[in-house]
Amino acid sequence: MDKNFKEGQFQGTIKFTPPLSKQRYQFIKDLVAKYRPKKVADLGCADCKLLWMLKFCSCIEVLVGLDISASIMREKMHMLSPLPVDYLQPTERSLTVTLYHGSVAHKDPCMLGFDLVTCIEVIEHLEESELNKFPEVVFGFMAPSIVVISTPNVEFNTLLPGVTSFRHPDHKFEWNRAQFQSWALETARRYDYSVEFTGVGHSPRGMENIGFCTQIGVFLRKCPQTGGFAPSDKSSETVYKTVFKAVYPSLKDEKYLQNTLVGEVVFTAQIIKQSLLNHLMSEREERNDNTTERKAQLQPCFSKDTRKLGVEKSMEPFVKGNVVYVPLKTIFSFPKVNQLCGTFEKLCKLIAGKVKLSSGGYVLLLSTEHEDG
Ligand code: SAH
Repeated sequence: MDKNFKEGQFQGTIKFTPPLSKQRYQFIKDLVAKYRPKKVADLGCADCKLLWMLKFCSCIEVLVGLDISASIMREKMHMLSPLPVDYLQPTERSLTVTLYHGSVAHKDPCMLGFDLVTCIEVIEHLEESELNKFPEVVFGFMAPSIVVISTPNVEFNTLLPGVTSFRHPDHKFEWNRAQFQSWALETARRYDYSVEFTGVGHSPRGMENIGFCTQIGVFLRKCPQTGGFAPSDKSSETVYKTVFKAVYPSLKDEKYLQNTLVGEVVFTAQIIKQSLLNHLMSEREERNDNTTERKAQLQPCFSKDTRKLGVEKSMEPFVKGNVVYVPLKTIFSFPKVNQLCGTFEKLCKLIAGKVKLSSGGYVLLLSTEHEDG
């Protein structure tokens, strides 16, 4: 008994757990985890659910959806927009999400250069003329490294309650395994791909011979570079219309890197300052205990605590008057700052004009008083 099908539930009524659509999306997520593609396109993306799941996959930098229905994409496309947290904590990876209105029967150069193209429960919605063009568009023109196509296995329909003809009124056909496999094998042969068949939605015990409820073909391009098939018209004209585009904040963008770095530098300097002031305070209290004599002004002073934080003696912070001097070298020695800017020169360049520095530009100045921000 498979784990996705609840025992005892098969008495003419089949209920998949998790739902079949979720199992199909999970199948794609697992494939993404295995191959780690950077550029992924979902053809026939409908309400963008799969795209939404995929935006959390850290390897993906370009995510594209295509559908013949602009209105179905518009319904939920805003869930693909960056969230406030994405701006507060930009990540190292860049991510652009774009939705196009167009048909899988038409070529558009915006679909070139993809690592993975998914086409989940779409081919059965295509008219015969569209289906005839589909292999040339997807395998010949787009020619991604991997193509995943899923479609209903009509042999399973007898187990689905209420299904007398097709599973959906918009389906133009539903194939059995032999039909899908012969189409897929011929397509793979023509465009120099290999194909493996699998599926999701197991049949109940004793009925394994009817196969999966959803049949899936995973196509891998044999030739890594050009697919061994030279498309004649890769310079075809733009026909798809952009309906949505979101560029996620990323540390690769200098604007976000600068903001994040300045925030981190100020935060680090505040920690150093606090540690130094605490140390001076305890020293002063010790002196007060031993003698009534008090020094009027704080002298340049080094803190043991800051040394504990990994600060070298040569770049120790100090206090003079009511100013705390924190050498940038000290701040640079903190792993998070170091990681963000990579080199000391870049640190100096990115924070210049954003924080208060000494005239030489290598020491950050803070007031001993409490400062906001
Ligand atoms: N992939 C989605 C939706 C499947 S329904 C999912 O797994 O949930 C099929 C989708 O294909 C619909 O949104 C429909 O509008 C779209 N579609 C149908 N013909 C198309 C074509 N020629 N080009 C692009 N999308 C098409």
